[in-house]
Amino acid sequence: MFEMSKATYAGVPRDKIPWYPLIDYGKCDLCGGNPKCKEFCLHNVFEVVEENGKKKLVVERPFNCVVFCTACEKVCPIPGALTFPSKTEVSKVINKLREEIRKGR
Ligand code: SF4
Ligand code: SF4
Repeated sequence: MFEMSKATYAGVPRDKIPWYPLIDYGKCDLCGGNPKCKEFCLHNVFEVVEENGKKKLVVERPFNCVVFCTACEKVCPIPGALTFPSKTEVSKVINKLREEIRKGR
């Protein structure tokens, strides 16, 4: 049976936190067919899909990504192919959501 994820981070529903890798398709070459990031990540965030007969990497399960983890960026051989949002900005979002939850909104 399908069950909604109840994952939270710092008391905030995980799916409200915009933290996950972003792929620059101008740079990612799928590691020639064996995506290192997908192989490396233990949280099943990435998937390879076929689009117009061409394989491409997608962030299929963004909210599986561990908040503030950037580990896959370090295994990616192409600088800038994977990037992450600003930690400062995402921290602000989390703090705002925590405040709203605290106030019972
Ligand atoms: S490791 Fe980098 S280049 Fe390789 S598939 Fe992932 S994003 Fe693309
Ligand atoms: S940042 Fe960490 S958890 Fe998120 S996709 Fe990369 S390796 Fe997986």
